[in-house]
Amino acid sequence: MGDVGCSTRAYSASDPSSQAEREIPTPLCQNNMKNIFKIQTIQSYVHLVTEPYYKEHANIFVLEGINTDFVIDTGIGFANLREFLVSKGFGPFKIFLTHSHYDHIGGARHFTQKEVWAAERTIQRMRGEKYLGLQYLREKDFKKEIVKNFWNMTPKKLCDTWTSPKRVKKKTAQTIKVEPYEFKIIHVPGHTDDSYALYETKKKILITGDALYNGKPYTELLNSDRGAWVGSLGRMENLEWNIIFPGHNNVMRKEEAKQMITNWTSILRDQVFMS
Ligand SMILES: [Zn+2]
Repeated sequence: MGDVGCSTRAYSASDPSSQAEREIPTPLCQNNMKNIFKIQTIQSYVHLVTEPYYKEHANIFVLEGINTDFVIDTGIGFANLREFLVSKGFGPFKIFLTHSHYDHIGGARHFTQKEVWAAERTIQRMRGEKYLGLQYLREKDFKKEIVKNFWNMTPKKLCDTWTSPKRVKKKTAQTIKVEPYEFKIIHVPGHTDDSYALYETKKKILITGDALYNGKPYTELLNSDRGAWVGSLGRMENLEWNIIFPGHNNVMRKEEAKQMITNWTSILRDQVFMS
């Protein structure tokens, strides 16, 4: 809930989430979060937040609910996403993590354990010492200007200071309810073995994480499986949806998404055949 652009709920300094891990230095300009997060309203009650200082940035979707706002994925998490969302009038929160890659779960560290939900397999993957896929984090993918001005550090140093995932609440049920939404949680392995999509049957929304987006599928990652991915694409295609909220790049309408599923299936099939 909440009006975007003005704060409607007071952010308490004693909130446990404000005591989140302290290894990352406080940003130099507290009131300049707009340089760090970008927010746009993409349809009624649905907002997209991104972290443009990181070129590979993942999408963070905020769906306004009746009592609770539903946030899907949390970005890289160098700056405090929760604080930013509260400043825009959102909250209380329920968060769902689509898979355990660092660019989707990094910001979970700023929320409370009660607020963050993930499937059991994702949590298992998050239990390691470090975020998954950090080997793909490259200094050149950061806008140096912003990192230097905001944190007074080089991207390399900033990356080095940020390592450990926060533990989250286990979600073992088949659905997640945030009124007026009720999402089915669908296992869509392929990109990783812990990839999950969310499907809203009434509103015909599919949230795909990195199981499908407008771009090329990365198939050389740890825990990726091309054969499983083809199966997941087929299962997603068989659902009735009108819009896709993906883990990266633009929101896709039906025609574009169907075309992307066809392209990805063909790319993945060819790779399975060649291997
Ligand atoms: Zn990913």
